[in-house]
Parts: sequence; C-alpha cells; structure tokens
Amino acid sequence: MTEPVPVPRSQALFDRACKVMPGGVSSPVRAFRAVGGTPRFVAHAAGARFTDADGRSYLDFVMSWGPLLLGHAHPAITQAIAAAAARGASYGAPHEGEVELAELVVQGYPGLERVRFTSSGTEATQSAIRLARGCTGRDRILKFAGCYHGHADGLLVAAGSGAATFGTPSSAGVPAAVAALTSVLPLDDDAALRAWFARHGAETAAVIIEPVPANEGLLLQRPGFLRLLRELCTAHGALLIFDEVISGFRVARGGAAELHGLRPDLATFGKILGGGLPCGAFGGRAELLEQLAPNGRTYHAGTLSGNPLAMAAGKAMLSALVDGRVHRQLEQRGQQLQAGIERAIAEHRWPLRFERLGSLFWFAFGATGPIRRPDAIPAGARERYAKFFHGCLARGVYLAPSAFEVGFLSTAHGEAEIAEAIAVFTTALCEAFA
Ligand code: PMP
Repeated sequence: MTEPVPVPRSQALFDRACKVMPGGVSSPVRAFRAVGGTPRFVAHAAGARFTDADGRSYLDFVMSWGPLLLGHAHPAITQAIAAAAARGASYGAPHEGEVELAELVVQGYPGLERVRFTSSGTEATQSAIRLARGCTGRDRILKFAGCYHGHADGLLVAAGSGAATFGTPSSAGVPAAVAALTSVLPLDDDAALRAWFARHGAETAAVIIEPVPANEGLLLQRPGFLRLLRELCTAHGALLIFDEVISGFRVARGGAAELHGLRPDLATFGKILGGGLPCGAFGGRAELLEQLAPNGRTYHAGTLSGNPLAMAAGKAMLSALVDGRVHRQLEQRGQQLQAGIERAIAEHRWPLRFERLGSLFWFAFGATGPIRRPDAIPAGARERYAKFFHGCLARGVYLAPSAFEVGFLSTAHGEAEIAEAIAVFTTALCEAFA
C-alpha cells in the first residue's frame, strides 16, 4: 500500500475542526472514515483541480459531489455570482432571477410545467413527498434499497426484516412511527414491485427513485424496470417521483426522464441546478404544483428559497447546457476514460468493472457483470478500494473517499486530464491488486 503523504496543515486544521465540529466535518463522508487517513482541507480550486492547505494539487473527480458540471470556479458562474452579490445577497421577495431559472428548468425537463425552489436536495425530496401526500390524500411512500434521497426523517429508512412491509429507521433519531410509513423494495425486481402494488397500490402516495441510482455505486437500471414502475404508478394512482438531484442536467439536459423517455409526476433537483451554491427544486405538472401554498393546501416555504446568488449561478450553468455541446463533450471524455480503464482491465485481468453513464462513473471492485442493486456488490470492495484510493491520492488524483460513491466528470476534464487520470488509475489499480 502507498505510504500516506504527510499533510501537516490539513491535519492541524482537522484537529482544530474536531474540537468544534462533530467529526471535524459538515457532512460525514468528508471525514475519510471509509478509507482512513487525513481529509484534505481545500484552500482553493479552479477547473478540474483543487489545491489543499499543504499546497498539494489534485485532479478532482468528486467535484463537490456533482454540482460542478463546468469545473471549479468557471468564469461564467463566478462572474454571475459576483454580479448578483453586488445587487444584494438575499431579498425575501420575488425577483427576475428566479423566474429566469424556473423558465430554464421548465424548458429543459420533459413534462415539467411548474417548479418551486428550495435550498437543498433534501428539502426538495421532503417537499415533493409532502406534496404527493397532499395531492393523493394517501400517507404511504415507497423507496428502493440503494437509493439516497437526502436526510429527511421519512427517507432515512431501511427495509424491515424478512417480509415485513414497514421500513425501519436507518438513523438514530428517526421515529419508528415515521419510518413505518416508508416501505423499501429492492431495485431491479419486477416481481417484488408487482406484488407491492397488488397489495398496497391503493394506499401509496408516491414512489421515489433515483432513476440513475448513484449513491451506493452506480446501479444502472434496466429501462424495463423503470417503465414497469411508471405503468404501475399510473395504474394505481400513486405519484412517481424521479429524484434527479444527481442525474438532473447531467445524464442529459432533461435528466434521466429525457434519457429514458419517461415522465415522472414529480421531479426533484439540486446540485448542478445551483451551480455550486445551495439550491434545490421540485417540480411537475401544473395541476400538482398548484396545490402548493399559497394556491393550495400543501405547505412549503424557505427564507433563502430562490436566493439571488444561487439563481444567478444556476442560470449561468443551465444556459451553458442549451445547445448540447457540453453533454457531447462530457460523453466523449467519458468514453475516453472508459476505453483507457477497460483496456487496462482486459490486459491485467482484474476482477473489476468500470460502470459509466455519461459523466458519472464507478469502479465496481470484484464485479464481473452489471450490478443493479447494492446487495449484489461483491464483498471485499471496501478494502480494495481504500488501497486504490490512497494510491490515487498520493499521485494527486482525488476520488470519493468511499468505495460506494461515484466519480464525476466536468467539462474542465479535458483530454490531457483524462489521459493523466487513466495513467494514475492504472498504476494505483496495479498496486491495489498486487
Ligand atoms: N437526492 C439525491 C439523489 C442525492 O444524491 C442527494 C445528495 N447527495 C440528495 C437527494 C440530498 O441533497 P442535499 O445533499 O443537497 O440535501
């Protein structure tokens, strides 16, 4: 295993952070628990790279976990933010910027007629579920094991034991009574889905799914599974929610809905939508969204919803996606990366699969065929990944500090950066499989 590189300034900052912040971080995965070692404290970032507090530079494949489709500190986005900041950071009143961003979202996403802004992806999913319950008058929701939808109580739920219908809390602090309203099914299981709807279809307010599950590996679904889900929701009057917080604007301008030619009833967004600033949204057909306050009886609000800086960054981001060049470039770079890694896999005969969809990728350690659900991820992936991760980190390539998180490409990852990454990945894989 590669010797850890000394990062004394990051270590000192981490020690300081741990005295005033739980685990030293604002979000748990940043603490490096799954891979060990010292989290890198970022000093500044530009394009495809960031520099840490010790002055070391990294080619970044985390990209803030998705928002930075155009890379760090893209001039169009930073200029839009600076100009907006000079006009005032927040108004708590309507402004043109939110209308412009809403128009861009509605124009780009299949079937979307109305959109409401939030400050995070978590707020978007939580509010979409409340709206679904408000619209249907039903309480029960269904989710899938391996999909993450943020940290609202009703979504931090794991499957109950055995054939139990009711979910159980996956975090302390989530009441069992709340978790019991959420049921959890396996992905990629048509029979389980049919059985669920046969028994509970009439009670189901909504089914929420990441149409491109990217939070426990990249679990690419069969189009037929998503189609069946759409059909069953329609047949039983349950609303289908596509959580496109990662996939939205990334796998296509119109997200997974465009890619699969499917229309959810509601869709949730975050990440890319805010161009790196705190922002989320949920949207759908007018007849559903108009049931939100002030027109309707389902409540949603936010002091910073529609924040002018986030709207300006989002407008700069989404405007860049209209002519299709960004997505064509991302696909080319993705193909370049995939070809390089698959060549190395074939040459070395590693038990490893490189999963990719557009600018999302994942190293599936131990896998030989497609993996569509988390319980199919081979055991031992975690240990192998930790070695691989540190081999990359020591050579200046930053991947997610967890075997089950995906990698993100941006337009700042040019041909040269991808070639550099292929070389480093290959060397680090040789070490990890040694
Ligand atoms: N849904 C999905 C699919 C996500 O990936 C995430 C965050 N990774 C969320 C919801 C929650 O978004 P946020 O972290 O902005 O609250």
